[in-house]
Amino acid sequence: MTDSEKPIGVAVLGYGNVGSQVVRIIEQSARDLAARIGAPLELRGVGVRRVAENRGIPVDKLTDNIEELVSRDDVDIVVELMGPVEPARKAILTALEQGKSVVTANKALMAVSTGELAQAAENARVDLYFEAAVAGAIPVIRPLTQSLAGDSVLRVAGIVNGTTNYILSEMDSTGADYTSALADASALGYAEADPTADVEGYDAAAKAAILASIAFHTRVTADDVYREGITKVSSADFESAKALGCTIKLLAICERLTGDKGQQRVSARVYPALVPLDHPLAAVNGAFNAVVVEAEAAGRLMFYGQGAGGAPTASAVMGDLVMAARNRVQGGRGPRESKYAKLPIAPIGIIPTRYYVSMNVADRSGVLSAVADEFGKRDVSIAQVRQEGVVDEFGQRCGARIVVVTHQATDAALSETVAALADLDIVQTINSVLRMEGTTE
Ligand code: NAP
Repeated sequence: MTDSEKPIGVAVLGYGNVGSQVVRIIEQSARDLAARIGAPLELRGVGVRRVAENRGIPVDKLTDNIEELVSRDDVDIVVELMGPVEPARKAILTALEQGKSVVTANKALMAVSTGELAQAAENARVDLYFEAAVAGAIPVIRPLTQSLAGDSVLRVAGIVNGTTNYILSEMDSTGADYTSALADASALGYAEADPTADVEGYDAAAKAAILASIAFHTRVTADDVYREGITKVSSADFESAKALGCTIKLLAICERLTGDKGQQRVSARVYPALVPLDHPLAAVNGAFNAVVVEAEAAGRLMFYGQGAGGAPTASAVMGDLVMAARNRVQGGRGPRESKYAKLPIAPIGIIPTRYYVSMNVADRSGVLSAVADEFGKRDVSIAQVRQEGVVDEFGQRCGARIVVVTHQATDAALSETVAALADLDIVQTINSVLRMEGTTE
């Protein structure tokens, strides 16, 4: 064995959905991996909570002493697949401080601690890779940090949460309401016992923070991301969306905005939005993910595939592990954190979007013009109005439903309009306010 073929010691933290697949690939593809890296990978140990026989791995490979495992002299690379924040953060910091490179899939951690972890990697001059933290198997971090490193990214928008995309696709295709679509997603294993992180948009917001940071060379954390979940989306919204030639998707949108005087800001936001059926993201159904990147010179690029699951996520982790191992063998490092642009974060109030507003109103003359007046007073221009009768449980007409679609307006103007509409005697309820993306009229 030459010196360059000295084995690369790997510690894997976590032996769950992703960790067990990573260990499987390291073992089953050992020969190919060694040829690609220029040295064999050797699994030194696997960190878990529960050390036991019959876990599909020799028990002497398992340990619950994470700090000891990452500190071993014969460990060169630590692959963190425990989630969510602690003890993952501490284990990664210990590893980096001791000169080990780190690969992680932990979006919750990267969305709050990238700065601290990137600095530790910089101090130790080692790698910190996290391709699997956004959109599972889909390569999107590497295209942004490497392939597009010479271009100027304008916008990154996508469907980055498979659970919510499954629920919304079910609602769209079957007419199911939110509660039964969520129950289906849970029964099929697409939703966790506590689905809050997915359905309230926290998971997508963490990914938006990571994407915005990389795309715009600015540190963006989860707290900077405006977030709305999907729990209020109704089957009536899907009916209206269909009538407008749209579907509804939970979108993560990261944009570089340029003001009148050329000043630039970053907007990162997550919300359910109407998307026209001919938009590429409208065709992304079930648990799939997709990310559309718009760059100045490259134009529009679309990345599509499996955004979660043990094996698909392990594929992205393995890509990072091979890169980190090659760097160990050949010398050199992967891309460092790039935060030179330091762009300010734009508040949601100034973001121009189109809106869809659905409200139940009294069924009498003059209602439509009173509603239109409130939009007009705040310069929110109306693009389309639909009105339909509402019947009670006995089939008697008891009011009307008005759906208004606006041209682009700021969030602040729209919020004021909705507050004023809610105060009108003739408006019984504001059913929904959703944004419309993918059209700029
Ligand atoms: P998982 O199935 O819940 O597995 C977690 C593993 O970590 C388990 O083996 C668990 O040990 C171990 N662990 C948890 N807390 C620990 C602690 N305090 N000390 C020691 N070991 C601990 O999780 P997963 O689905 O594989 O996800 C792993 C990471 O990948 C997370 O950061 C997740 O966000 C990310 N990710 C997952 C997916 C996906 O599709 N699953 C996709 C993209 C990213 P025991 O087995 O003993 O309980």
